[in-house]
Amino acid sequence: MNFENSLRFAKEMDDNDPLKLFRKEFIIPSVNGKEQIYFLGNSLGLQPKKTENAIKEVLNQWSAYGVEGFFKGDKPWLYAHDKLTKPLAAIVGALPHEVVVMNQLTVNLHLMLVSFYKPQGERIKIICEAKAFPSDQYMLETHVRHHTLNPRETIIEVQPRNGEHTIRTEDILNTIEKHKDETALVLFSGINYYTGQLFDIAAITEAAHKAGAVAGFDLAHAAGNIDLSLHKWNVDFACWCSYKYLNSGPGAIGAVFIHEKHHEDHSLSRFAGWWGYDQATRFKMDKGFKPMKGAEGWQLSTPSFILYASHKAALEIFERAGWERIRTKRSLLNNYLWYSLKNLNDTASDKIIEFITPDSEKERGCQVSMLMLKRGREIFNELERNGVMVDWREPDVIRLAPVPLYNSFEEVWKFVDILKGIL
Ligand SMILES: *Cc1c(COP(=O)(O)O)cnc(C)c1O
Repeated sequence: MNFENSLRFAKEMDDNDPLKLFRKEFIIPSVNGKEQIYFLGNSLGLQPKKTENAIKEVLNQWSAYGVEGFFKGDKPWLYAHDKLTKPLAAIVGALPHEVVVMNQLTVNLHLMLVSFYKPQGERIKIICEAKAFPSDQYMLETHVRHHTLNPRETIIEVQPRNGEHTIRTEDILNTIEKHKDETALVLFSGINYYTGQLFDIAAITEAAHKAGAVAGFDLAHAAGNIDLSLHKWNVDFACWCSYKYLNSGPGAIGAVFIHEKHHEDHSLSRFAGWWGYDQATRFKMDKGFKPMKGAEGWQLSTPSFILYASHKAALEIFERAGWERIRTKRSLLNNYLWYSLKNLNDTASDKIIEFITPDSEKERGCQVSMLMLKRGREIFNELERNGVMVDWREPDVIRLAPVPLYNSFEEVWKFVDILKGIL
C-alpha cells in the first residue's frame, strides 16, 4: 500500500473502508458537541449503541418473570451462555467448548493456576515476561506463596537486553530451554500492556511443551485485537477481559480458554461451584461435584446476566463485521499510523519520539507506545486539550491504539497533524 500523508488520502481510505458504517454503531465521546479522537480501545473499548437495550431486556425479563426468568421468556437466562461461546471462540481461534465466559481476568488467572500450576519436586518454576501487568505479577507472587514457595526463587522473569525495550523471542525460548527440568509453567501475555509487543504465542507454547511445562497466556490486550489460533497452537489455557478490544463495558465479564485435551483429565485440581455442575441435573442439588463437559465445567458462580447482555451486544458486532474484514482494516489503519508517525519523526530536526512498540507487523497489534524523549507530559496535555484521547504511563510513555471497528483513517491523519502542530 502506498500511503500518503494528506487529508484527501485519509478520506479516500475511509470511503473505501468496508467497515466504515460500523463506527455509527458506537457512542463516540464528545466534548462541547465535538467528537473526540478516541484512541483508547486498548484500555476501555467504546460503548455499542445496542448495549443499553440489551441490558434493558435482562431487566425486563427480571420484572416479567422474577426467578422464573431463568427458564421462561424468549431469552431464558439458563441458556444465555450458549449464545456467547460461539462468537467468542471464533475471535480467539478455539472450539466453542474450549471457551467459557465467567468471572474476571485476575480471578480467572488464579483459577487456572489452581488447575495448571502444580509445583512438584524440582519442577516448581514459572517463566514469565519482566514488567507484566501489575495484577498478573501480584497474582503470580501470591499464588506461589500459597504453595509455600518463595516468589523470588520461583518466578523467572525474561528481561529485555540492555538498551532494548522489548524481549527477544530467542531469549524467551532459550530461558525455557535452560530451565527445562525445573519449569512447571510458562505464562506470558499475548501483548505486553506497556510496550505493545506481541509475543510469539505458538513458539512459546511449543518450547514450553518441549520442556515438559504448561503454557498459559493472558490475552487482555490480544483478544479482539490480533489473530489468535489457541486450539491449533496447542495453548493449554488462556484468560482475557472483554472491556478492552472487546467493547463489553467497564468491569465486563471475562473469559477463559481451556484446550480440549485437558477436559477429561480428572487429575487436574479445580475449585468447583454449582454453576460448573452438570447443567441437566444441577437443580437436583445432589452431593458430589459432577462437572459440565468442556471448559464450562470450570464455572463456579451464577453469572451476571446483565454483563452477559453487554458482552453479547458487543460480540454481535464482531460477528457482523467479520474477522477477515476487521483484520484487514486493523492492518491498514495501523500501518497508516506508523507511516505517518515515522514520517513526522524522520522530518523533525530534533528527535522527540522513540517507538518502543516493535514496528514489524508480526510483533504488534493496534497499540503504539511512544517514549517521549522530551516534553512528554506537556505534549500529552496538549493532545488532550485538542480532543485526542490517548494515555500517559509514567515516567514518559504515551500509548494509543486506533481500532478497526470505530476509528477512521481521517482520525489517524488528524491525530498526527495535531501532534505535528504541538511539536
Ligand atoms: C487489563 C489487564 C488486567 C486487568 O485485570 P482485571 O482482573 O480485569 O482487573 C490484567 N492483566 C493484564 C495483562 C491486563 O492488560
